[in-house]
Amino acid sequence: MYFASDNTSPVPPQVMAALARANEGYASSYGADPIMDEVRAQIRELFEAPEAAVYLVATGTTANALSLAAFCPPWGAVYCQPEAHINVDECGAPEFFTNGAKLVCVDGPDGKISPEALAAAIGRATPTGVHNVQPGMLSLTNLTEAGTAYSVAEIAALAGVAREAGLPVHLDGARFANALVATNATPAEMTWRAGVDVLSFGGTKNGLMGVEAVVLFDPSRAWEFELRRKRGGHLFSKHRYLSAQMQAYLEDGLWMRLARQANAAGQRLAEGLRTVQGASFTHEPPANLMFASMPRAAHARARAEGAAYFLNGPEDGPAEEAVEARFVTSWSTTDEEVDRFLALARG
Ligand SMILES: *Cc1c(COP(=O)(O)O)cnc(C)c1O
Repeated sequence: MYFASDNTSPVPPQVMAALARANEGYASSYGADPIMDEVRAQIRELFEAPEAAVYLVATGTTANALSLAAFCPPWGAVYCQPEAHINVDECGAPEFFTNGAKLVCVDGPDGKISPEALAAAIGRATPTGVHNVQPGMLSLTNLTEAGTAYSVAEIAALAGVAREAGLPVHLDGARFANALVATNATPAEMTWRAGVDVLSFGGTKNGLMGVEAVVLFDPSRAWEFELRRKRGGHLFSKHRYLSAQMQAYLEDGLWMRLARQANAAGQRLAEGLRTVQGASFTHEPPANLMFASMPRAAHARARAEGAAYFLNGPEDGPAEEAVEARFVTSWSTTDEEVDRFLALARG
């Protein structure tokens, strides 16, 4: 009953097999391996973007920070939602790699930025000209940190506001596959067709050992991105082991099957939580990540039997008081785990 994060899950056997296959003989280093050629072709086809530049890195923080650095000047403002991973979970890497761009938080309902709030923030950005950081970039996250999903139309509306101000758009897709499953959108619809310039295409949360792709739909920054990746110490020499993971992930739609499994487990959990006395959702959950409150006693019963997840309130207190928690399911979550947790929570 491990609902702490989708990055606690194991790596699917197809990916381990691909690593074993890649572990034969010699291969060119630093991204010149033949498997990377396949990955580049797979991603270009998947995104219907034959010109896209594609790079692999080992963490989402790197993917995000280098993406922002390639598009935002040091004196720029990066508009993001207050709970965005770049704002609260990356130890200042975006600021560091952009040489000091300022993250400016813009909020809205359901863990999403509202277009009106974004337009207002851009509108009031530079009252005293040279004394202010200048509007630099928009960064969205899908799935959002709240577990909600931006629709394609919502992304297009926000990207439209950014574009009107001449700003490029980044999408943090650590859970991109889960967002696609939740919205039924295609990769192209959710990205460049909606106005996204650069995507952090997640792999790790959805089953890889440690690979994320950066997809630059605007390839004019490709060389700069390569230099920044190397300078930042994130160009892998034995790159074939990154390529092999991503190649297996994309082959025959494995990545979407994994996300469908994760979301199905999430929806089973959500349906069950609706029947737990005193339980409620902070936001309606369409995918595999959710915030739900339930009585402290229900948490205590489940946690005493080993259920693992983050509580957003104190463990001790009145038994009937509602305490919010975050639950995340992954491709490897079983129905049995979910059902056992729900039975314990129901008491
Ligand atoms: C997990 C996550 C990342 C990547 O985090 P790393 O620990 O650096 O791999 C990025 N963005 C979001 C929204 C995430 O949930």
